[in-house]
Amino acid sequence: MNILVINCGSSSLKFQLIDAVTEELIAKGLCERIGIEGSNLVYQPTGKEKVETQTPMEDHTQAIRLVLNALTDEKTGVVKSLSEIGAVGHRVVHGGEKFASSTVITDEVIQGITDCNDLAPLHNPANLIGIAACKELMPDTPMVGVFDTAFHQTMPKEAYLYGLPYEYYDKYKVRRYGFHGTSHSYVSKRAAEVLGQKYEDLKLIVCHLGNGASVSAVKNGKCIDTSMGLTPLEGLIMGTRSGDIDPAIIEFIAHKEGKSIDEVMALLNKKSGVLGLSGDLSSDFRDLQKAYENGDEAGIRTMETFAYRVVKYIGAYAAAMNGVDAICFTAGLGENSPFIRDMICNRLGYLGVTLEEEQNAKRGEDLIITTPQSTTKVLMIPTNEELAIARETFALVNQAG
Ligand code: AMP
Repeated sequence: MNILVINCGSSSLKFQLIDAVTEELIAKGLCERIGIEGSNLVYQPTGKEKVETQTPMEDHTQAIRLVLNALTDEKTGVVKSLSEIGAVGHRVVHGGEKFASSTVITDEVIQGITDCNDLAPLHNPANLIGIAACKELMPDTPMVGVFDTAFHQTMPKEAYLYGLPYEYYDKYKVRRYGFHGTSHSYVSKRAAEVLGQKYEDLKLIVCHLGNGASVSAVKNGKCIDTSMGLTPLEGLIMGTRSGDIDPAIIEFIAHKEGKSIDEVMALLNKKSGVLGLSGDLSSDFRDLQKAYENGDEAGIRTMETFAYRVVKYIGAYAAAMNGVDAICFTAGLGENSPFIRDMICNRLGYLGVTLEEEQNAKRGEDLIITTPQSTTKVLMIPTNEELAIARETFALVNQAG
């Protein structure tokens, strides 16, 4: 069965068509600038030439229509008709406490996702638009929602509650939810396979280090803590997001700079992180790494502060699990930068971590990058959120069928 995986943002849409049985990627692509002048579709059928089309896309329905046309096109298409797409899997960012696992999308589920809009005002409405567009264009094709928050729903109360008046949890569900769950789940399961050990027997720490970044503690096959919170702003220092700060800083900056709360929040989301810390040098770790290597002070302070925060979370989660068997690196930076893995692992001597330099220099495949003597193993596992969404969708549609 072919599964169309859709990841809908406010003005963009990423898609992949995956054969759920062979797990082969059939085609992938991206619609950009939806609803904005200069929209374009990049469509890449596997093994064939990439097709780029500049074409107006007024809304997401039109974008999905163009994607479906590309997939079924006589010349560049990969399926004869839409009936060859067995199901659609949607990435949904926030499932609140309602969705602890993926689910077949019904009207009730759509209402449930809508109820979580408050918790992810930038993301959930966009995800819902994608769902509505597919419903309109492919009314008979089953759809599944796969939530970024679901994997973390196993966290115990002590990990997800904040030190706030409990009534805010009761009334508004203010608590830690965590994100990147599909990636943390995929990578931690894959790590168990690579280690040749039972998932249920392991204590794992997953470092998803990309433009957005988070760490999770996975004990005996269940997430027990994660660094992102009510929103994806908490935790590690990210591309442009601050991560953990003293909450009093918000008021302090608002007073000093004459800014509103909304303005300070925009600053914390878009102008902070490694971008802000480097004095606007870059939010891209490749530039910052170069600056570090060139001895640039801004590059050095930024990379060291970023790495230190990751090391701190690893220590906290090793303590939370009373030990750790393996640490996994994934996502853009975690997968592609031996430099950052080295910088972090160098500070983990107390866990008996010894990197195997030759292994750490490699790319692109699942790797154990520590020596056989290393007490705690370190792995590099490329994440594949789309494949994970396709798997979940296939399993649920099969079950329902
Ligand atoms: P993601 O959000 O997972 O796509 O990751 C994006 C981040 O990965 C960006 O900050 C990139 O700079 C970083 N990245 C990608 N490739 C490399 C690389 N070869 N070295 C260092 N950072 C990289």
